[in-house]
Amino acid sequence: MSSEPPSDELLPDPDNGQAWWGNFLGSWAISLSLHAAILLVLALIILPIRPEDGTKFIVIRTEATRNPTLEPVDNLEVTPEDLTKGDLNDLASLAIPTKLISPEPSAVEVDVDQQELQWQIEAREFLGQSHALGDLAGRTKQARTMLARAYGGSAATEAAVNNGLEWLKRHQRDDGSWSFDHRVDSCDCGNPGNLGRATVAGTAMAMLCFIGAGHTHQEGDYQPEMRKALSFLKQEAVKAKEPGDLRQLPSGNFRMYGQGLVTIVLCELYGLTRDREVGATAQACLNFIVSAQHPQNGGWRYGFQDEEGDTSVVGWQVMALTSGRMARLSVPSRSRDLVRRFLQDVQLEQGAYYGYVKPEKKASTTAIGLLCRMYLGWGPEKEQLHKGVEYLSGIGPSPNNMYHNYYATQVLHHWGGELWEKWNRQMREQLLSTQDQSGHAAGSWAPRDPHAGAGGRLYMTTLAILTLEVYYRHLPLYQRRSTNNDF
Ligand SMILES: [Zn+2]
Repeated sequence: MSSEPPSDELLPDPDNGQAWWGNFLGSWAISLSLHAAILLVLALIILPIRPEDGTKFIVIRTEATRNPTLEPVDNLEVTPEDLTKGDLNDLASLAIPTKLISPEPSAVEVDVDQQELQWQIEAREFLGQSHALGDLAGRTKQARTMLARAYGGSAATEAAVNNGLEWLKRHQRDDGSWSFDHRVDSCDCGNPGNLGRATVAGTAMAMLCFIGAGHTHQEGDYQPEMRKALSFLKQEAVKAKEPGDLRQLPSGNFRMYGQGLVTIVLCELYGLTRDREVGATAQACLNFIVSAQHPQNGGWRYGFQDEEGDTSVVGWQVMALTSGRMARLSVPSRSRDLVRRFLQDVQLEQGAYYGYVKPEKKASTTAIGLLCRMYLGWGPEKEQLHKGVEYLSGIGPSPNNMYHNYYATQVLHHWGGELWEKWNRQMREQLLSTQDQSGHAAGSWAPRDPHAGAGGRLYMTTLAILTLEVYYRHLPLYQRRSTNNDF
């Protein structure tokens, strides 16, 4: 086989994300001021109290009272026409208000602390119950709304997710796939990636975003798109040389990433729908991952049983195996024991910090390592876990490495408490202020790095959407009914 062109060489070390995404701190700062007005609007969650007459709204102050850089604004209102489709009682269906009208005396202001407390009580009750969907129980429409409210989402984050999904819908190709070279007819969105041949991985990343908000081929607002996408994956599965080998490309370092991603998609779809055909393909993909793991070192890299694993590729495989267990598919415990062995080989200070292929204290690989540890059974009492979480919190969300943010956001969400609240405020505002708002690109996120060649806008957008779905995509591990998080 001839060697891969450089365009397929996705930079694997997530802590070297600058080569992908560069430093867009400068542009971000400019963008912040440009979006100051929008942020003022985002500072409010506006909820209807009497949807039947369409005129009364409760105006709830949230960020305006929390963030001293925002001027408090009173009684902003939107007319019912400004709200998007759907049930007005559903927070998830509310869009960012774009047209403001003058204050009306009928607006009612409520004490936000009291309201937030009520939402948190609701969420705690929900987490204390047993759910047929298990870890995926937060993805129903009702649960999404409730969990987003309780864990720091807002009408604005849900609107951003919905707009992101609409951008993905506009960029799905005729065969049902998505490409990292996202361009379709009449598209003038910039920043196409050059991993155009990795369409299974591109499709999996896009599908994860829909599934993360509960949209499947059998339920939700995007069933035709999801049916087409699933049909594309099934065709690829038929073409595979071995059952469950969906690495797609003959060589190149993105292959096992794609395998992990598509396995998560199929496991989650099976978990949500119990579609037996999907379940059978998901199981075959899991089996392939298990067989591709190095039998002594416990890692994965680019090929089959590569001797040297890396934390980045391992992270996606662990999430795939975890999704398999959550969906009640078969994953041998030996495979998970081997992962623990791999993690030991790249950890520092008994597992507080993780490196890429050796023990090091690096931010992104620490986020991945800690998330793996959480899903492999570590509880919040682990001192190393506390130390690692403090380290990630101290660094804060990266302005340019969305891959890091995707993992670290999940770690902080599971951890909860003040560290989560602080992280979420920064992460949420960063994402809301950098989402494109106009033209064909509306709803997407541009990688600001001039060298961002590989994943491009599709990659950046999918990671941003998944990060904004954190409130409900997975239930917070340490607040659930069962304290046993060893999936
Ligand atoms: Zn476009």
